[in-house]
Amino acid sequence: MDIQRNGSIPSVPGPAGYFTGTVRMDMRFSREAPARVGGVIVTFEPGARTHWHTHPLGQTLIVSAGLGWAQSDGGPRKELRPGDIVWFAPGERHWHGATSDTAMTHIAIAEALDGEAVTWLDAVSDAQYQGLES
Ligand code: MN
Repeated sequence: MDIQRNGSIPSVPGPAGYFTGTVRMDMRFSREAPARVGGVIVTFEPGARTHWHTHPLGQTLIVSAGLGWAQSDGGPRKELRPGDIVWFAPGERHWHGATSDTAMTHIAIAEALDGEAVTWLDAVSDAQYQGLES
């Protein structure tokens, strides 16, 4: 058994190459093989969101605070509220983030395939973020 104590790993900013706006990441766990699951607590300030991306083995989001938006390729933008649990299937192109007015925090859990849990793509345009186009 391992207990990783809260506060044992410093928070880091979300890299500008993968996120738009101000994002804080707490990289809470990343298990060694044969386990491959990892989890990150991500807080998006209002207006902040990921770039478009995919996960090779899918991703689960547990929304823990605030109000968020998420969208998959070709679909409508959807609202995320605390307590909502979101599943993105393997290879599903999508983004997630805060709404324009309210911050959002989620716990993101994904398994890695060959050491990679995410493939980053292009930034989410303002029109896409505002739900005006998919
Ligand atoms: Mn994702």
